[in-house]
Amino acid sequence: METHLADFIRNTSAGREAEEILGRCVHCGFCTATCPTYQLLGDELDGPRGRIYLIKQVLEGVEPTEKTRLHLDRCLSCRSCETTCPSGVHYSRLLDIGREVVERKVPRTGVDAFARGLLKNLLPRATVFGAAMKLGQSVRILLPAVLRAKVPPLSAAGPTPHGGHARKLIALAGCVQPSMYPNVNGAARRVLDRLGIEMVESPAAGCCGAVRLHLNDADAARDDARRNIDAWWPLLDADAEGLVMTASGCGSHVLEYAHLLEDDPDYAVKAARVVLATRDISEVITAEAAALTPLLQAATPLPEAERALAFQSPCSLQHGLKIRGTVEALLTSAGFQLTPVADGHLCCGSAGTYSVLQPEISKRLQANKIAALTAGAPTAIASANVGCIGHLQGATKLPVRHWIELLDARLSS
Ligand code: SF4
Ligand code: SF4
Repeated sequence: METHLADFIRNTSAGREAEEILGRCVHCGFCTATCPTYQLLGDELDGPRGRIYLIKQVLEGVEPTEKTRLHLDRCLSCRSCETTCPSGVHYSRLLDIGREVVERKVPRTGVDAFARGLLKNLLPRATVFGAAMKLGQSVRILLPAVLRAKVPPLSAAGPTPHGGHARKLIALAGCVQPSMYPNVNGAARRVLDRLGIEMVESPAAGCCGAVRLHLNDADAARDDARRNIDAWWPLLDADAEGLVMTASGCGSHVLEYAHLLEDDPDYAVKAARVVLATRDISEVITAEAAALTPLLQAATPLPEAERALAFQSPCSLQHGLKIRGTVEALLTSAGFQLTPVADGHLCCGSAGTYSVLQPEISKRLQANKIAALTAGAPTAIASANVGCIGHLQGATKLPVRHWIELLDARLSS
């Protein structure tokens, strides 16, 4: 697609990147067919090709309006379109660039600005969010159903292994996961320990930055990335092999650090090293198959009644990290029988803060996903991302767990 960028962005790295991405798009529209918001709303401007057009116009100097911003807001950033695109269009990067420009040109007001400000300041602060979550959990039974669905019951991280292994991986505690689902990192720590790897965390690290980026505050997201790099650097420079991510949403975002900080002379090289050193927990465990297989063989066989399991592959796992089939293979080797899930490429509607900011679309996607996940009569649902787990659990009585918790339970049996 031929593009003539406006002066305000032409000679910037964002402009050059946008031009390269736009140049790849041949307007075939294949991506539209697999876009969840296009499927629901049926408007070209609520699909990837239409949004690409809107962003192109803005970068060429057309003044955006609130309507432009709305179509970009309705995008889930699920990246299903990237998986489908035969031309390798890096849509999500173009979206980030477009959103940053539109946000500046069409500032928000009123309730919208307030809600986004609140989310930006509450969610990424683990201590503040943790205190609010604890309060919510203590009165959970009294909460209205809509709020109760977003507050999981109080739970614990489980026993901590002694560690002391020579091999070490740095994990990200994250912002909401420690207070909502502490057992996820607890389970990861125990499984890795059994495989001879110690999981370490830096208390100075915090939110990966995805929350603020998705709320169009790219500068704050860059600050989050710099803080985390500073927290991880001494451990990487000492003896840690690399980083392990237990939430696919965080892992997918950390892989964008090199892009986010490419113009920062103090952090560009460090960010590139962090990206190279980062793996999803499923990749780490799969690489340790030689140690894992005998442990699974020694485990008590899974009772027949607990075998049927539906796996929801988060967008951040399958479209962001492009990890497909890996978790499924691990769960199968652990004795589970995965039930069929139709339209597995479609988003569940969680999408970071999307479920709060676009509740109607989110609810429809959630209902569709629950129907697809439960169609094969599973006894539980597994996922790989904290946001999806909370979102799905709010709409089903079946237990929704991170798959690493299920693997940990199998290895403990
Ligand atoms: S599939 Fe790719 S090339 Fe085709 S319209 Fe979509 S983004 Fe453009
Ligand atoms: S990221 Fe998802 S919602 Fe956004 S345009 Fe692509 S497929 Fe559609």
